[in-house]
Amino acid sequence: MRGADWLHAGLGLMFPRCCFLCRLPLDSPTQLCESCLGVIPRLKPPFCRRCGCSLYPAAGDGHVCGACLANQPLYGRARAGFIYEEPLTALLHGLKYRADFSTLPVLAELIRPLQEQLGVNREDDRVVPVPLHRSRLMNRGFNQSLLLAALFFSGAQSLILPQTLLRVRNTAPQTSLDGMARRKNLTGAFAVSDASLIRGRRVFLVDDVFTTGTTVNECSRTLLAAGAIDVEVLTVARVARLE
Ligand SMILES: [Zn+2]
Ligand SMILES: [Zn+2]
Repeated sequence: MRGADWLHAGLGLMFPRCCFLCRLPLDSPTQLCESCLGVIPRLKPPFCRRCGCSLYPAAGDGHVCGACLANQPLYGRARAGFIYEEPLTALLHGLKYRADFSTLPVLAELIRPLQEQLGVNREDDRVVPVPLHRSRLMNRGFNQSLLLAALFFSGAQSLILPQTLLRVRNTAPQTSLDGMARRKNLTGAFAVSDASLIRGRRVFLVDDVFTTGTTVNECSRTLLAAGAIDVEVLTVARVARLE
């Protein structure tokens, strides 16, 4: 046994690996135990072809939900891995509001299957995180969407453009508003700093949670106006909505 192996074996005895959520010892090189992994609520197909919400099983593939039919989104497709419920809410809040970066390996493990389904054309596509306004970035110290983009595109970091989509207007939190007010609140909130970086490209837009879709729709408007050919929205979680 090499020195490093002895060290790892010794540390393993002193500090047995345990599940990030329930703290029970793990016998596999994962972050979560089987039962914790099992309770994280997943989105079940069939999905709305546009916004990615779960449809009633009878809908079959290729359908579009009522909300997307009534109000066509500007992005081509939105996809999420999980439903925004506990314990995922706690993980995402830990990252966003308490700068708990120990959640990142867990989130990386959770999004791995989604990462494999992406079908990214690694050379032609570009990746853009939903931006924070400069003042909020200064307060928080990091943009959680950029960290998640780095997890989603771990094999293609050079495609990530952290400063191309900007939030140029500091807006009220969307959670305090409804429908029309949400859209109005974000009008003119985003801008592209250098359109040549995304012109003619498919852009993956990354955020932590898809709620009503208003934010990613406004980001898509700005990206498409700057010459992107399509926008695919990618989030770790989305609010459950069954149509
Ligand atoms: Zn566990
Ligand atoms: Zn839809």
